[in-house]
Amino acid sequence: MATSPATPLPPVPTTGFLPPDPPLEAAVRAEGEKLFALMDAHPAPGLFSKKGAYARLMDWAMKDPAFKTQLFRFVDVLPSLDSSTEIVRHLQEYLGDKAVELHPALKTGLAAASLAPALVAGPVKAQVVDMARQFVAGEGPDDLVKQLRRNARAGLATTIDLLGETVVSAAEADAFLQRNLDVLDTVAAALAKDGAPAFSDLGPSGPLPRLNLSVKISALTPDVHPADPENSIVALKQRLRPILRRAREVGAFINFDMESYKFKDLTLALFKSILEEEEFRPAPPVGIALQAYLRDCEADLRELIAWARRLRRPISVRLVKGAYWDYETVLAQQRAWPVPVWSRKAESDANYEKLTALLFDHADLITSAFASHNVRSCAHAIAQAGRRGIDPRAYEFQALYGMADELKAALLQTGHRVREYCAVGALLPGMAYLVRRLLENTSNEGFLRARNTGEATKEELLRHPVELLHTGDRKPESGQAPAGYDSPVSGVRSPPFRNAANTDFTRAAARDQLRAALQAAGARLGRRWPLVIGGRRIADREYVPSVNPARPAQIIGHWAKATRADADAAVAAARAAFPAWRATPAEARSAILERAADLLESRRMELNALLILEAAKPWVEADADLSEAIDFCRFYAAEMRRLGRPEITQRVPGEHCTQAWIPRGVTVSIAPWNFPLAILTGLTVAPLVAGNAVIMKPARQTSIIGAVLMEILTEAGVPPGVLNYLPCLGSEVGGHLVAHRQVDAIAFTGSRAVGCKIWETAGQTLPGQANLKKVVCEMGGKNALIIDSDADLDEAIPAALYSAFGYSGQKCSALSRLIVLAGGYERFLERFLAACPSVPVGDPAQPGTVVGPVIDADARQKILGYIEQGKKEATLAWQATLPPELTAGGGYYVPPTVFTDAKPDHVIVREEIFGPVIAVMKARDLDEAFALANGADYALTGGLFSRSPGALERAQREFLVGNLYLNRGITGAIVERHPFGGFKMSGGGTKAGGREYLQNFLFPRAIAENTLRRGFTPPEE
Ligand SMILES: Cc1cc2nc3c(=O)[nH]c(=O)nc-3n(C[C@H](O)[C@H](O)[C@H](O)COP(=O)(O)OP(=O)(O)OC[C@H]3O[C@@H](n4cnc5c(N)ncnc54)[C@H](O)[C@@H]3O)c2cc1C
Repeated sequence: MATSPATPLPPVPTTGFLPPDPPLEAAVRAEGEKLFALMDAHPAPGLFSKKGAYARLMDWAMKDPAFKTQLFRFVDVLPSLDSSTEIVRHLQEYLGDKAVELHPALKTGLAAASLAPALVAGPVKAQVVDMARQFVAGEGPDDLVKQLRRNARAGLATTIDLLGETVVSAAEADAFLQRNLDVLDTVAAALAKDGAPAFSDLGPSGPLPRLNLSVKISALTPDVHPADPENSIVALKQRLRPILRRAREVGAFINFDMESYKFKDLTLALFKSILEEEEFRPAPPVGIALQAYLRDCEADLRELIAWARRLRRPISVRLVKGAYWDYETVLAQQRAWPVPVWSRKAESDANYEKLTALLFDHADLITSAFASHNVRSCAHAIAQAGRRGIDPRAYEFQALYGMADELKAALLQTGHRVREYCAVGALLPGMAYLVRRLLENTSNEGFLRARNTGEATKEELLRHPVELLHTGDRKPESGQAPAGYDSPVSGVRSPPFRNAANTDFTRAAARDQLRAALQAAGARLGRRWPLVIGGRRIADREYVPSVNPARPAQIIGHWAKATRADADAAVAAARAAFPAWRATPAEARSAILERAADLLESRRMELNALLILEAAKPWVEADADLSEAIDFCRFYAAEMRRLGRPEITQRVPGEHCTQAWIPRGVTVSIAPWNFPLAILTGLTVAPLVAGNAVIMKPARQTSIIGAVLMEILTEAGVPPGVLNYLPCLGSEVGGHLVAHRQVDAIAFTGSRAVGCKIWETAGQTLPGQANLKKVVCEMGGKNALIIDSDADLDEAIPAALYSAFGYSGQKCSALSRLIVLAGGYERFLERFLAACPSVPVGDPAQPGTVVGPVIDADARQKILGYIEQGKKEATLAWQATLPPELTAGGGYYVPPTVFTDAKPDHVIVREEIFGPVIAVMKARDLDEAFALANGADYALTGGLFSRSPGALERAQREFLVGNLYLNRGITGAIVERHPFGGFKMSGGGTKAGGREYLQNFLFPRAIAENTLRRGFTPPEE
């Protein structure tokens, strides 16, 4: 409720932060000093009280960042450790780390701990539980009711947060829903017996709901897919409606917490959409948290206010700065996406103040809740309200249980309502929450640390954030990579190599673009694509249709089938074009690749649509495939520039010694269908930029994508004959090409059977053959992921599911053997099997699909055969049921399947399946786990989920695969970051997207020139 100020204030400007305004600043300082004085007069004992082990630990953590990392990691893993020996082992591994400075007595204690683990483990666990207790108000509803009453006696209102964030299965989501309903019932019943409301439960027009529950949407359903908001919202509403209904019945208030950025638009959309439902328009009272550290927070808030006005729906907004700053920054940098948060702390503070003013401009409809422990942010809100004549009871402050107690008291004493955010739940599983609080308390830039350690004076703490922006050190602007992010060799490149950014499909505009592209592509299907040999389009051949695996009746296009004579013609054309291409400077060849990369990028959505239709790639997979193709072009272009300059091998007076590279000759590139654009591009442009002439043979299932790539490379400037497009059947014409005496290199990715045959054929030297043939051969995998008993299952389960079932398990890197350590086997398996049904199976044209059809009828038949075999030798633990509407169109769908009790000699454990089938094995210990993992014919990718530094170190030494992934999924290699390729029957040890790759298509030449003439040398020597 607002009473008008003497002179109306101008509206909050839409651009820039609020500049310092002297009268307002004076009021902010006065309010701030008042709060500080009250806080100093009644210091509350807490985390930073001078006594106590926590204070010492936190002190230590702030002084030694290495100790802080290791301590918080230990706190995070502790709940999963179920024996004293394990606790002691982890403690030693974390805190025994050489980088960590420990008190000598503690070091000795740690070293001796293995002698009597129980003596150490018990107290350590108790201490961590105690630490958690500082931030968690209790375990169950009874504790909660007690806390609510305690708060009420102190004048505080309460909002309840039920601990538990990630749910991986419907069962877990149901359990969480039930806990919410139980809390609403129990607490409502208890409060009904209580007397008068607390000071903070009284608003300007009377009592406010005393029961106030904060909800996180990620805990409501496992089916949250930010790229598919429509279906996610349907799933979320199913569990949100019962909560809102019960809240309405018991007169409770529901607040939507705000989580990481990827959920932000979804949370806002859900909030609006459910409140637009007739039954929830009048009640219950609701609120939502908005994060001022986000650059788009202001736009969201303005949009929310406009929406609330349209609906005439009063709501609350909890204004926070945001709890995931590091996470958002790192993630955006990893993905080359714009960083969504402000890069400087003062910017978040300044935005907070601007949004405070904006909220007050709409105090007639929006009730503000300022959730901050920062005295300046609170004082500013008080001063803003004061200058607008807003009743202090018309808004509230919120603070966390266990933190900023003296601020809560000071705010109460100055007549402000304060609500405490009380997390409740089992202490040990609530560690994610504890770690967030510990980080907040010790954060370098946080108010709490600055105040509690005395690092800043009160004067400094009350300064206007915009002033700090002008005086403070400048950090890199958002979106700008920190030092070291650029490619390590960028110094020699022009322009430096940067990975292409995948599309962020959480953005509605991106989803609309791809939908439109899919529609447009539908209208262009069925075209005929001729061969291209020596720059000539050869159309009079037999044509083969290429179909959509999700709807085989839909023909994507027809490709001309090359004959043996065409193959001979292509080799002749390539040979003829080779000398001029070899003589073309590396710089010019690189520039062509970069133009191709630009063309690929400019046609991103159109190509995504084609990948979805011809290869049945789900949206994000299609988009990643395209990014990888672009990366190959840019990375190999940069690499060729580097290799194109002769390198001095040794500096010695009187002799100029260099090494240079020359191309091999004619290369045949034979690509698979599973990365129909990325691998085909990589296998083609690498030899091409190295100066070879190339014959490109795409997989028959995805030859239309190959034709489009040919079109793009031609448009980019690859001369006639230097690249030839030769779709054909491998058995008829591919073999002929490999054996051809005028072919110098073969770049192949595909099955083991074909790869080995190519290797063998290429090894035979024919009369008249100029060179020994080079074969770059990448084949399959039987990839294993090991789950240690201390693994973080909230992370491991989604990663395992995606690695195994993403793109229907049709990646050479896909997970097919899941090796689970006995110590955590039951716990893992129960959650894992319960989580399997949440993996979306469907038409890849739908944005949320993870598992689409497999590539063709043959593949489907083969995989189904393996599933039958699995049923004979292992236990069928789970299999998806395919909805009839999915299979009605004849799509090549295979139900994702999980077998347990698999043994090393089983066929499903030994042979590559190339479909969504997992074999789970139990391992006694890490020794056995590594032995099982390494006991395959293949060595491509592999992974380990563990929170034991020792186990992670062992994996690096003992888990022998080409690409080892620790604590993450095992698919999704990125060019340059993860050079890709394996050994054993997975390939010849080459690394696509790695720095040595181009050398496969080059011969090195060493040149030594005697520069000593009549006793003198050129000056530079
Ligand atoms: C009751 C309550 C409820 C909350 N609910 C939520 C919620 O739903 N969602 C949520 O995300 N958070 C929530 N938070 C946490 C909140 O977002 C803040 O992380 C926390 O309160 C610290 O902010 P502050 O104003 O108290 O402290 P300050 O020390 O003033 O601010 C610290 C904050 O500044 C920001 N920051 C730090 N470094 C930088 C930098 N270099 N550049 C830009 N910004 C930076 C970060 O947001 C950091 O948390 C809640 C907090 C409270 C008290």
